Amino acid sequence: MKHITWNLAHLFDSDEDPRIAKKRKIVEQKSYAFINTWKSRTDYLRDPAFLKKALDEYEEWRKSYGSEGDEGYYFWLRTSQDQNNPALKAKFNLIEQFSKKIQNDIQFFHLRIAKIPEKLQKKFILYPGLKEYRHFIERLFAESKYLLSEPEEKIMNLKSPSSYANWVKMTSGFLAKEERSIISEKGERGMKPFSEIASLMNSKKKVVRDTAAKAFNDIVKKHVDVAEAEINSILANKKVDDELRGLSRPDLARHISDDIDSEIVDTLLKTVSDRFDIPSRFYTLKARLLRVRKLRYHERNVEYGTISRKYSYQDSLKLIMKVFKNLDQTFADILDRFIQNGQFDVYPRKGKSGGAFCAHNLISQPTYILLNHTDRLNDVLTLAHELGHGINNELIRKTQNSLNFGTPISTAEVASTFMEDFVLQEIVRKADDDLRLSIMMMRLNDEVSTIFRQVACYRFEQELHDHFGQKGYLSKEEIGKLFQKHMASYMGDSVEQSPGSENWWVYWGHIRSFFYVYSYASGLLISKSLQNSVKKEPRFIEKVKEFLSAGLSDSPKNIFLRLGINITDKGFWNKGIEEVETLLSETIHLAVKLGKIR
Ligand SMILES: [Zn+2]
Repeated sequence: MKHITWNLAHLFDSDEDPRIAKKRKIVEQKSYAFINTWKSRTDYLRDPAFLKKALDEYEEWRKSYGSEGDEGYYFWLRTSQDQNNPALKAKFNLIEQFSKKIQNDIQFFHLRIAKIPEKLQKKFILYPGLKEYRHFIERLFAESKYLLSEPEEKIMNLKSPSSYANWVKMTSGFLAKEERSIISEKGERGMKPFSEIASLMNSKKKVVRDTAAKAFNDIVKKHVDVAEAEINSILANKKVDDELRGLSRPDLARHISDDIDSEIVDTLLKTVSDRFDIPSRFYTLKARLLRVRKLRYHERNVEYGTISRKYSYQDSLKLIMKVFKNLDQTFADILDRFIQNGQFDVYPRKGKSGGAFCAHNLISQPTYILLNHTDRLNDVLTLAHELGHGINNELIRKTQNSLNFGTPISTAEVASTFMEDFVLQEIVRKADDDLRLSIMMMRLNDEVSTIFRQVACYRFEQELHDHFGQKGYLSKEEIGKLFQKHMASYMGDSVEQSPGSENWWVYWGHIRSFFYVYSYASGLLISKSLQNSVKKEPRFIEKVKEFLSAGLSDSPKNIFLRLGINITDKGFWNKGIEEVETLLSETIHLAVKLGKIR
């Protein structure tokens, strides 16, 4: 095996490479050449021909330099390989400070374009010379519609920590400090921090998960009064902000920043909640497999069966390569290049960052994938997932300019889950029946959490904002009641809304990011809908590739429309849901065949 760590020579030879300082000088020169040229000019805000010239230069700057050049990316990657190295941290901080200054000095450019008067905007959008920048400008215009004056925006910014962020940090900080004596997997009693207590609630051992749940409930209950005050404050703050900006619904700011139409999110919510029978049937199956009449609230994620098969890194690559080749040669070629160029950091090491990610920065810089491969089935899926992101980057890189390099949050997880699912199907195909049942149950559990639970959470948030708007203050009891109502709506009768679970909103961080959670459901369902079409018609992969190449060049809605797909239509989302339902039916069928249920 040639490389098992990143070959960073695509950027610099070493941490001491003399080219680092030289390149930084160039970044500074290029940045201020742009800033000094355009800061004093206003012609580009009236005449589209001049804006085209400005954007061409800006695009070039974003392609090759940005505010930190190769140095920022290089040291960011290096610190993730060696998190406890103070020399690296220092180098990274220096380039960050350097970059911050340029970012501040160049932000006038976005702000001024955004402020082009509404009656002139159409002229810019329709100007043929600006065609490749059209959506970039459209997005700036869309956000500026709800911006206040510059001094007002400044006040909003300065007050935001004390009116929002500090409140949220306070609650999560109180929870993080908690510890309780509970029973570990090894059967020993001892003090454990909150985060570990939360994960031990999924233990297969009843005594472990039950003591963990008791401790968890005790902790959230202890802080529920504080959380009540916190959540009422941030809801009030959000309502004031929305009114000042003239936003017509509480989730509109989220939709605009994610480049997704409210109409699409509404269709997604309706289509998914019309099928809450699917998660409900899943939990009934799980309860029967685990031989209980009802799962308690904290038991719904307990794993069924064991998945002990090992997959070495080499085996994983081989398996994924085969799946990619079957889908499309382009995907296999990209994987091959990643391997040849040393774009993976494979195994866990002391000091290396945990989890996994796929990093990209400037369009001119290579993708790097970080893994912590330990030969488990989940590691294969993680590799496939990150490769999905990697393939997405490479396809966008080939066709788009640097201003369109990226994905909106609403579709960011489409490529990753697409690849992950096809790889999982290959694994399932080869597994024996018992292993297959365990894997399918694991998968369904993830899909129920990603699609149905997040949609239920979004609907809880909608009602929370709505009730707050009407009443002006919500007690912990009222919030708890709403919460349980929405959790019960997707879990069905086989999961108990156990005493104590009415307080679990205290710990759900995402409801504080307001309406973020739909993006989990939209990403996975778009991916599944595309999978459904590819399975029926393999040539459909051409459309998938086109979608994956489009980046930020248009809204997801328009990108799909050009491919002949209407994502405002219920049918599109139902195709995705159909995939989950098929998996559920196959799983039930297999459980019956194996005599696990009757
Ligand atoms: Zn991802």
